[in-house]
Amino acid sequence: MIVTHATGQYEIRYQRVNLPDGLIVTDRNVFDAHGDILTDRDVIVLEPGEHTKSLAVYEQLCRQLVTKKVTRKSTLIALGGGVIGDLVGFVAATYMRGIDYVQIPTTLLAQVDSSVGGKTGVDLPEGKNLVGAFYPPSLVQIDTSLLNTLPARQFQCGMAEVIKYGFIQSPSLDDSLRQESLSLGDRRLESVVEECIAIKARMVQEDEFETLGIRAQLNFGHTVGHALEQITRYATYTHGEAIAIGMVLEAKIGEVIGFSQPGLTGKVESLIAAHNLPINAVELKEFDLIVSAMRKDKKSSNGELSMSLVRGIGDCEFVPNIDEGVIRGVLSEFAKV
Ligand code: NAD
Repeated sequence: MIVTHATGQYEIRYQRVNLPDGLIVTDRNVFDAHGDILTDRDVIVLEPGEHTKSLAVYEQLCRQLVTKKVTRKSTLIALGGGVIGDLVGFVAATYMRGIDYVQIPTTLLAQVDSSVGGKTGVDLPEGKNLVGAFYPPSLVQIDTSLLNTLPARQFQCGMAEVIKYGFIQSPSLDDSLRQESLSLGDRRLESVVEECIAIKARMVQEDEFETLGIRAQLNFGHTVGHALEQITRYATYTHGEAIAIGMVLEAKIGEVIGFSQPGLTGKVESLIAAHNLPINAVELKEFDLIVSAMRKDKKSSNGELSMSLVRGIGDCEFVPNIDEGVIRGVLSEFAKV
């Protein structure tokens, strides 16, 4: 599949990993799990975890590239989850004003989401992804067998995004997941990953720089989810767990304002629970902190409370200016006591 961006085109290949020439950057967990494919290759191994997506590690990595005599003609290979993909993409975007990089995502989340779309970046202490660039890779290789070593919680984290694609764009995907929950080793895994990537690729091609409200649909569940991640300092919930909770609350907000079909929340809740993801959280009672974090969301202009809401399964739209009272009411309904 070819994805076309304003800044260039790249191919997404479904194949067994076939490492191209170039310098590989990975993290320790991936290195330990898949060292066999890295024999005789030059590899930089970073610490796993979100803290690696920082300006400090960015600088350290750029300096290692100089030491290793990486030139403008070299290629970086990001072998890892979204952390490695975002960091290496940003290094590639800026090192010597831009060099090629290849994405080989090793988490479900990175395969269905972060490796496609060209968003790269690092976090600041003030917030996630605050420094970055739109910089597409030259190639994405998808090999779902890399997921076999993924811890169950990380697989579930990616499932939250998979479930989201059904809610925002694909009633048939939603149906399939309802008939039987998807787990590692499921024969549907490869085709589900392909469908999610196709949806994401279509949306980012139609709205690369997120100005038309199309790409914004991918943020269903993320306005509340990001706020929850932020107030818990990214330590309590994985990204997927936070957006699972966010999707339930945003479905309810949609129902309360009369935008979503009655009964949507129940449908969202049941599919999420069937995939062992949480549907509520004790921290939701921190109304002031959550609302204030939502107002600071990169996607809300002038501190307005806006979010992408699902009308019915497969039908999503960006809804601006949602009443704060409604949000507070829904937060209190779902705060676990
Ligand atoms: P991650 O990269 O931290 O990986 C999760 C954990 O799984 C890590 O401990 C990692 O070492 C381990 N791991 C990875 N692959 C493994 C494998 N095959 N076997 C065993 N362990 C493995 O997290 P993630 O969930 O992949 O990505 C989260 C990041 O992605 C966040 O920083 C988020 O902001 C970013 N993101 C970016 C985009 C985008 O469009 N660029 C979209 C969504 C998320």
